[in-house]
Amino acid sequence: MKGKKSLAYLITGGAGFIGSHLSDLLLAQGHRVLSVDNLSTGRLENIAHLHSHPHYQFVRADILEAVVMDRLASQVDIIVHLAAAVGVNLIVDHPVHTIETNIMGTEAVLKVALRYGCRVLIASTSEVYGKGIRIPFAETDDVLLGSTSKSRWAYAASKMVDEFLGLAYHQEYGLEVIPFRLFNTVGPRQTGRYGMVIPRFVTQALQNEPITVYGDGTQSRCFCDVRDVVQALAALSINEEAVGKLYNIGNTEEISMNELAERVRDLAESESSITLIPYSEAYGPGFEDMQRRVPDISRVNALIGWQPTRTLDDILLAVIEDKKDNE
Ligand code: UDP
Repeated sequence: MKGKKSLAYLITGGAGFIGSHLSDLLLAQGHRVLSVDNLSTGRLENIAHLHSHPHYQFVRADILEAVVMDRLASQVDIIVHLAAAVGVNLIVDHPVHTIETNIMGTEAVLKVALRYGCRVLIASTSEVYGKGIRIPFAETDDVLLGSTSKSRWAYAASKMVDEFLGLAYHQEYGLEVIPFRLFNTVGPRQTGRYGMVIPRFVTQALQNEPITVYGDGTQSRCFCDVRDVVQALAALSINEEAVGKLYNIGNTEEISMNELAERVRDLAESESSITLIPYSEAYGPGFEDMQRRVPDISRVNALIGWQPTRTLDDILLAVIEDKKDNE
């Protein structure tokens, strides 16, 4: 891969929110992009603008379709594995689907990557930090998840298995694997259909409907613009030193959901009220949320000099414009 300027990438989940932005960036950098997606949560609208790009190809298939994956992997240098069951709603409602998709899907990707010697970036999640209380969260921290009777934690556990499996392929077979943990990633093209808070708040604000803050609204998150996130992924993917290590990717600007609701309402110039909805009503009985989630990004920063460039206000204004144009 060293010295090769134009590379071929396979993006799983390529029609998804993050996959579509990563495709935009890699194509702009002069690479070839093959994209595979079963369109379960991905959308053709996300990639409609790439349809006629000479270096882009989209294949509608499931990553468990071995023959298709074999053909695609045989043509690429690097696989970025983003296909997964995501969104808290989906996870709580369909835990079997979440666990099976995330574990079997990653296993399938690693197997085919090994066959063709592709480098693989594996998407994991900041959910893995679970109930950790040492803020900010660093890659080397211990992990404390909730009980297996709470289906929310199935997502984190399934992604931890993906990380273990990826690192094991690296250790045992020498496969070039780079797992990364995404913190809350937002921006244009993200839909609120799967529960993500910013697209939901923005749509509610633009329709002057009540903005639904779950719990008491004191829980906080850090939101990173997807266009910053994909810059980190592209840079990590071509860095030899990145291989075999795990990276946090996220923003460090923290905001509570109460403050976020107010910020969205102000920026959208909305007349919405802000309502508190108990977690039990939003997600069903016994739901456990993460109170805070702040990344330590010093590892990725030290390696590739990456840090987010867009503030929360930049992101919110971009999402508001995007939703005004498209909804
Ligand atoms: N949330 C909220 N109202 C909504 C959707 C989500 O208050 O309409 C809260 C949710 O309970 C969580 C935070 O916003 O505390 C972020 O939720 P999201 O699903 O976007 O991501 P998570 O960080 O839970 O993966």
